[in-house]
Amino acid sequence: MIVTIDGPAGSGKSTVAKIIAIRYNFIYLDTGAIYRSLAYLAKSLGIDVEDEERILPIIPGMNIDFVKVGDSQRVLLNGVDVTLEIRTEEIGMLASKVSRHKGVRKSLLDFQRSFKEKGDIVAEGRDTGTVVFPEADIKVFLTASAEERARRRWKELMERGIEEDLEKILESIKRRDEQDSSRDIAPLIPAEDAVIIDTTNLSIEEVVERIGKLIDGKRGL
Ligand code: C5P
Repeated sequence: MIVTIDGPAGSGKSTVAKIIAIRYNFIYLDTGAIYRSLAYLAKSLGIDVEDEERILPIIPGMNIDFVKVGDSQRVLLNGVDVTLEIRTEEIGMLASKVSRHKGVRKSLLDFQRSFKEKGDIVAEGRDTGTVVFPEADIKVFLTASAEERARRRWKELMERGIEEDLEKILESIKRRDEQDSSRDIAPLIPAEDAVIIDTTNLSIEEVVERIGKLIDGKRGL
């Protein structure tokens, strides 16, 4: 079974996808981590993420592994654990820029699609239901107001001991939304057959339950 969960930054996709993966024993495919890893690699090589000509040649040598450690998943980039390093706002913004290139997206497709050979998957990102797995059994699109998404991000950072200005986060989220929604290729839009869930006033458990019902329904339970 393929379940896709797409939506903007802070809509709760990652949290929900991780819980679904554990509960249903699905493989968790975090497609954002792939774009983030590429942005991180480009930055460390001093390559401008806007420069597609220079980005494309580094993709074949980029090795990304998702390694399960207990209930969490680590991201290894060329053998180095970059799980935390790729989570910053800066890398998020660079990932959004690097993901605008048509050639870049195309080069990363096979890698993403290869995950379905490994078993049932829950894939999470921006275009997993529209482009990567148009044949998915269940497509979910999560939304939430920009203010709520900024607040969640702020809280998450606070819990990690990082103090950020809420207004600044809100501005960055809006800018990233605009960048992700307005691009020509694979823009952030729900698939026609996606179930849209507004999570602004829902708890994580409520969202998980709704998706769980869709999975059970598909399984005939
Ligand atoms: O989901 P996450 O915040 O980790 O994604 C980082 C960036 O990667 C997004 O802002 C988006 O521009 C890009 N991305 C994408 N397509 C995906 C997943 C992420 O373009 N399927």
